[in-house]
Amino acid sequence: MDNSTRRQFLESAGALGAAPAAAQQKTPPAQPAVKVTALAPAGKPRKLSENLYLFEDTCNVYVIKDGASCVLIDFGSGKILDQLRGLGITQVDYVLHTHHHRDQCQGDRKAVERNIPIAVPAHEKHLFAEAENFWRNRRIFHLYYMRNDFYTLTKNVKVSKVLADYSTFRWKKTDFFVLPTPGHTLGSITLLATVDGKKVAFSGDLMYAAGKIQTLHDTQVNYGGSEGIDLGIYSLSRLRELKPALVCPSHGQPIPNPEVAITQTADSLTAYYKFQTGNASSEANRPYAVSPHLVAHYQTTSSFYAIMSDSGKALFIDYGAASAVHFGSFERATAVTDRIRFVEHSIDELKRSYGMKSVDVVMPSHMHDDHLNGFPHLIRHYGAKVWCYENMVDVLENPRGYNLGCILAEPFKVSRSFRHKETFKWEEFEFEVTHSPGHTEYQMALFATIDGNRVAFTGDAFFDAGRKDGILRHNLIFRNHVENDSHVKSIRNLIEHSPTLIAPGHGRPYPVDKSMMAATEQHLLGQQKFFFDLLPEGETDFGMDPSWVRIYPYEILMAPGERKLLQIHVRNYKPEPMKIEVGLVVPAEWTVEPEVVKFEVPPKVESHRSVILRVPPGWAAPSPRVAIAADVVRDGKHLGEITEAVVDMKGWPSY
Ligand SMILES: [Zn+2]
Ligand SMILES: [Zn+2]
Ligand SMILES: [Zn+2]
Repeated sequence: MDNSTRRQFLESAGALGAAPAAAQQKTPPAQPAVKVTALAPAGKPRKLSENLYLFEDTCNVYVIKDGASCVLIDFGSGKILDQLRGLGITQVDYVLHTHHHRDQCQGDRKAVERNIPIAVPAHEKHLFAEAENFWRNRRIFHLYYMRNDFYTLTKNVKVSKVLADYSTFRWKKTDFFVLPTPGHTLGSITLLATVDGKKVAFSGDLMYAAGKIQTLHDTQVNYGGSEGIDLGIYSLSRLRELKPALVCPSHGQPIPNPEVAITQTADSLTAYYKFQTGNASSEANRPYAVSPHLVAHYQTTSSFYAIMSDSGKALFIDYGAASAVHFGSFERATAVTDRIRFVEHSIDELKRSYGMKSVDVVMPSHMHDDHLNGFPHLIRHYGAKVWCYENMVDVLENPRGYNLGCILAEPFKVSRSFRHKETFKWEEFEFEVTHSPGHTEYQMALFATIDGNRVAFTGDAFFDAGRKDGILRHNLIFRNHVENDSHVKSIRNLIEHSPTLIAPGHGRPYPVDKSMMAATEQHLLGQQKFFFDLLPEGETDFGMDPSWVRIYPYEILMAPGERKLLQIHVRNYKPEPMKIEVGLVVPAEWTVEPEVVKFEVPPKVESHRSVILRVPPGWAAPSPRVAIAADVVRDGKHLGEITEAVVDMKGWPSY
């Protein structure tokens, strides 16, 4: 069927209507052309209250009216645009999406053609703006990642605004609060607004009706998993606390009795989750009191601790994800340009059950995202201050600087830092901060006497695996920066401070004694012997550190026409000076000054030199990210391109 006969067929079938008008526009569409069908819903918008309408399209499209303007919650096929005149609406100010599934947004190109701005959930932005990149990279063979991100748009769509979790989107006199409600998708949001005097929740596909969700297949993330069920129960519980008077789902009918309907849905999902996994859902997780002034929570995957002062102020050690399911699901779904999603947890419980009045200070045991995922949230919404061991400051403030394991992609400010063995007083408690490398170079052990226990907060340095040999468990991650003696230093530091209780970064606090620490020291000396035996003579630490030569920053953000000062850092593990020559390998049109840097690094320290990188004006980047390498000569031996960095090009949708 050629185009004219196809058109005649559709016209005779009554399917085209007035739709082709957009195709006759003179300005070319911003999107790559896509052939679409002329299938469309049949009904009319239905009035729910004075300024709120529902139009049943491929999803429910909600119209919120203010005079002759409106915002639309989700967009379906876009057919709603033909219906607005009948509602006295001449202007669409925004399309706000609850999630990225095609039935919510398959008509978005029509909105773009008419210059209607589109706002999307922050953690699904890449599935709109860079849908084509998603398709280029989505693995289909060897499929174990079952998440239904296959329900992503086939073409990129221009995103004008992101809806960040816990932020408020203001439109005229209406405030839309963005509540993170993962479940149906991992990035889903619910928008809460007062419409016609009533608190309305536009909840996407979080629930379908009392006791029901629209699909089960969308709730599976990993092979055999029930992650979306667990997340959905948690999200429904948070939504219920906000007491909406009306829930407007993306499929199904508006729900006028949310309290009852949400409870019924959460209960049904809880029973189903228990059936499938044998576990209680994350919603059942609770912190507990280790002693009157120390509250611990280990079900948050990375344990976090709240030291409670009699003043009502709390000092947190770590504050990561709400649960293992939250962390595990979000971690795999995080776009390269995004930070892992964070959902608030435990704060209300600490206030209600433990008398907490404020989160005064929060300290990271180490710089890993699973331990400090909630820090920006505590700073932004609770005014918490961040204190840390001195070598973490730059990693937290400039996360783009490094290629280490588990970096949180969102920078935040540190207000106080501590040297090795520095002591401080906070409220009625005395603390000592010490360096505790091994799991990562960027880790502290913090000592304090709390309710008579000598407590060591040790992050991920030592775990109690319930071993009968009395040896504390440790782990080894080379990308975290670990040297041959890191673990030994760490256990000797512990022995020196003789704690009675270890508060680890995962799991519950456990008692520790001298014999356990001595046995662990012997065990770790055994590990060190392996390092020396396995690696070439004199090369042990070079063989353990993938970044002894590194480019700083590692993730460089640049636009054509810009110049950037980079540093070449070299760590010399040798007992004698080391001669280094380094030249950057970059796209042919770029320049580096000087082309080769030569310097001598004194024994047992890290030194650096600067180079200037220039990208010429107007340079057409072939992709959003360009890798560069450093070619290295050490003591006259050409080692090759042993280290690298990436340049993220500003101006692409994600940067
Ligand atoms: Zn959906
Ligand atoms: Zn951890
Ligand atoms: Zn860690």
